[in-house]
Amino acid sequence: MNPEPDAARAAYPTATSTEEFAANIAAVRARIGAAATRSGRDAGEVRLLPVSKTVPEERLRLAVAAGATFLGENKVQEAQRKAESLADIPDLKWAVIGHLQTNKAKYVARFAAEFQALDSIRVAEALQRRLEIEDRTLDVYVQVNTSEEDSKFGLPPEQTASFIAQLPAFDRVRVKGLMTLAVFSDDLDRVRHCFVLLRTLRDQLRQAAPDSVDLTGLSMGMSGDFETAVEEGATTVRVGQAIFGSRALPDSYYWPGGTGSAAE
Ligand SMILES: *Cc1c(COP(=O)(O)O)cnc(C)c1O
Repeated sequence: MNPEPDAARAAYPTATSTEEFAANIAAVRARIGAAATRSGRDAGEVRLLPVSKTVPEERLRLAVAAGATFLGENKVQEAQRKAESLADIPDLKWAVIGHLQTNKAKYVARFAAEFQALDSIRVAEALQRRLEIEDRTLDVYVQVNTSEEDSKFGLPPEQTASFIAQLPAFDRVRVKGLMTLAVFSDDLDRVRHCFVLLRTLRDQLRQAAPDSVDLTGLSMGMSGDFETAVEEGATTVRVGQAIFGSRALPDSYYWPGGTGSAAE
């Protein structure tokens, strides 16, 4: 519907040195800071999660040297491969931020510190079983579909309360908040609406949430919309291209069937 214009994609230069990564990270943080100030928030409440999908390991090392300590990946196998090859870096953590098939829960349970796309009880069950085997816990965000697009993953907002009510059964899965992808659109009002919806939902659910479920977190905002997300209450922004550089392939490649896809 709204293919990302080539010009917009070309707008992010590829960082190829520690200095360039440090500059990009500082620039994103400055924009987070300005957005926080505009909305009366403290920038310290907002975590910047660099998203490194498609970026090769050598360049991830540069980003780590520039201060990255937590990296987000949307495909499990790619994330696991990178986690193994960067295992020599102390304290580097991984967040899986993309849809998970039940049969891949075992990998996530092994290496990830965080999983941001929980939207089914079957996946919660599979994670619980595997986390018990690994004797680990996992921080998770419940993914909500705020864009009313059928093709995207995430729970419909009206099903989120009953979903969350079932999660205390999975004690290895530590709920930290809600996550969403906004509509892919140049219309910032529509994008903002998605973020407002997630925040409003979080505020409602919080009142009735079971004790073991922490709904403080709001993971929302990417390179194209993170300032709007911060204005609307994001506690984590997931930023890839503005730190690493433009990806060669359009977003439709990573979110098959999603709108905003030029390839369909
Ligand atoms: C790739 C990705 C991002 C980051 O998108 P950029 O445009 O690179 O900032 C955020 N969230 C998810 C789920 C992603 O897959």
